[in-house]
Amino acid sequence: MAPELLTPRDLERLRGVHPDLVRVIRRARRDAAFFVIEGVRSAERQRVLVAGGASRTQNSRHLTGHAVDLGPIPLDWQNIDSFRAIARVVQAAAEAEGVSIRWGGSFTGFFDGPHFELTWAAYPV
Ligand SMILES: [Zn+2]
Repeated sequence: MAPELLTPRDLERLRGVHPDLVRVIRRARRDAAFFVIEGVRSAERQRVLVAGGASRTQNSRHLTGHAVDLGPIPLDWQNIDSFRAIARVVQAAAEAEGVSIRWGGSFTGFFDGPHFELTWAAYPV
């Protein structure tokens, strides 16, 4: 059994997140330093984020446990490369686990660097 690198706070924030996505994050954490910013989100919190411009959709995968936001350690929102580096590791972990994911940094029109979600195609809910 590989050692647990996620902190108790990370694990708390992953509660309710789809087990396939949790598996990917757990594997990725072996090769990259990041923490879990947020997992499951309430509809009310999503409304607040959309109203504030931090999110673009009320149909967020966070509502159903199909998305997580990960922050590089140390967290520097201006350091886009640090988000790209995490994304490469998470993508590789997803491939190793046979899980289909999409990175928010590849969304058109809106760079969502910390965001990872299970694809709608493979996980229609
Ligand atoms: Zn997100």
